[in-house]
Amino acid sequence: MEITFVGAAREVTGSCHLLHVNGHTVALDCGMFQGRRSESEEKNRTLPAPVSEIDSIVLSHAHIDHSGRLPFLVAQGYSKTIWSTAATRDLCAVMLADSAHIQEKDAEFLAKREKDFVEPLYGMRHAVRTMELMVGVPYNKPFDVVPGVQGTYVDAGHILGSASVILDCTEKGVTKRLVFSGDIGRSGLAIIRDPVSPPQADAVIMESTYGNRDHESVDGARARLAEVIRTTAARGGRVLIPAFAVGRTQELLYSLNSLLREGAIPSIPVYLDSPLAIDTTTVFEMHPETFDQSEDMVRKVKELFEFPLLRFTRDVEESKAINSAKGPMIVIAASGMMEAGRILHHLANGASDPRNTILVVGFQAEHTLGRRIVEKQPMLKIFGDEIPLRAQVEVINGYSAHADRGELTAWIDKVKAASPKLGPIWLVHGEPEAQDAFKTSLSAKGYSVECPEPHTRVAF
Ligand SMILES: [Zn+2]
Ligand SMILES: [Zn+2]
Repeated sequence: MEITFVGAAREVTGSCHLLHVNGHTVALDCGMFQGRRSESEEKNRTLPAPVSEIDSIVLSHAHIDHSGRLPFLVAQGYSKTIWSTAATRDLCAVMLADSAHIQEKDAEFLAKREKDFVEPLYGMRHAVRTMELMVGVPYNKPFDVVPGVQGTYVDAGHILGSASVILDCTEKGVTKRLVFSGDIGRSGLAIIRDPVSPPQADAVIMESTYGNRDHESVDGARARLAEVIRTTAARGGRVLIPAFAVGRTQELLYSLNSLLREGAIPSIPVYLDSPLAIDTTTVFEMHPETFDQSEDMVRKVKELFEFPLLRFTRDVEESKAINSAKGPMIVIAASGMMEAGRILHHLANGASDPRNTILVVGFQAEHTLGRRIVEKQPMLKIFGDEIPLRAQVEVINGYSAHADRGELTAWIDKVKAASPKLGPIWLVHGEPEAQDAFKTSLSAKGYSVECPEPHTRVAF
């Protein structure tokens, strides 16, 4: 039994690992590489293995860095089953269609610049065909991946439908349990349940995104959100929140709903200004079976994502009309790192007004507008115009959907407690700095840890 690490090896994006058992090959995730365009472009166009050699795909969750290249495999001829949880399948219906649209637009843009036809990575019909191959299965119910490999999903507590996967692999009469963590969430995140450590493992492929960092507490984040809204509203300003469409947006809506109910923030209009975020919120509403019933609001409130002053602005004209609205308000708009999406016109309109607050709730990579705002650079360039940054800038890290160092350690400690023969742990899905620090701290506790380079093949 062997594993080849193809993507998210010594980096965060492009999650993809190949499991070789009994002469069969199973792909765990097939995500998009993101980052500098030229590098990721080439990686995205390289198949993890010849399509004819892949016998099945097991997907951990819907984020594009895990699911985004499934339609590319399908475009190249993949026609077998893609396993996921039911909620992940429904999120993929929205997200892969959105990704296909972006691929088509990107190819159009490049074709104009290069004055030659550029083939998109995939198109809408491939995203649709991918959905036909996806089979949604419940948590905690074993399914047959290929002969000799049985899979079981357990809740990863990261986003709606997210899972860690238990893979019971049998070859030549020997059965071993491999666990693939997927992305591990945090205890106490709103709406979704807490992560579950899989019971017992012989070997583990584990994410390590924040292996060297601790987050602010979930409760602390909520209190700061309320404070930022109160002070901005008192100045008569707007709170502009760029957010990722899946996960963080729904958590923010849920927090705003509960803060409004408690009277902890004033009743001001809230705009959700992102068609993708509106669609993914609808998918959340379709999957109450995944909600955390230990949360008061989940048990008592029927419409978690709807409250009187919340407006969904789907079309562009409605979105632009927000600019001329008067008085304090909250605007949640795509996209995460402020490089594209509707947040740009809200920033172009609102960044120079000192009454406003730009509230950053997610990681902002280098060389992005989001990073320049976090650094409070005095001048911003938006749509080619120079705009002075006079709005307040606030950063809340507690809305991260990823476990921090302590939470990752607790997750693997629980696996270990039930696994007398726990063998190697391969760290994936992390920048080298985070991985090396996490490897050191786990090794000190007696774990056997490796950080595989891309295309490394190991036996277990
Ligand atoms: Zn994720
Ligand atoms: Zn990820």
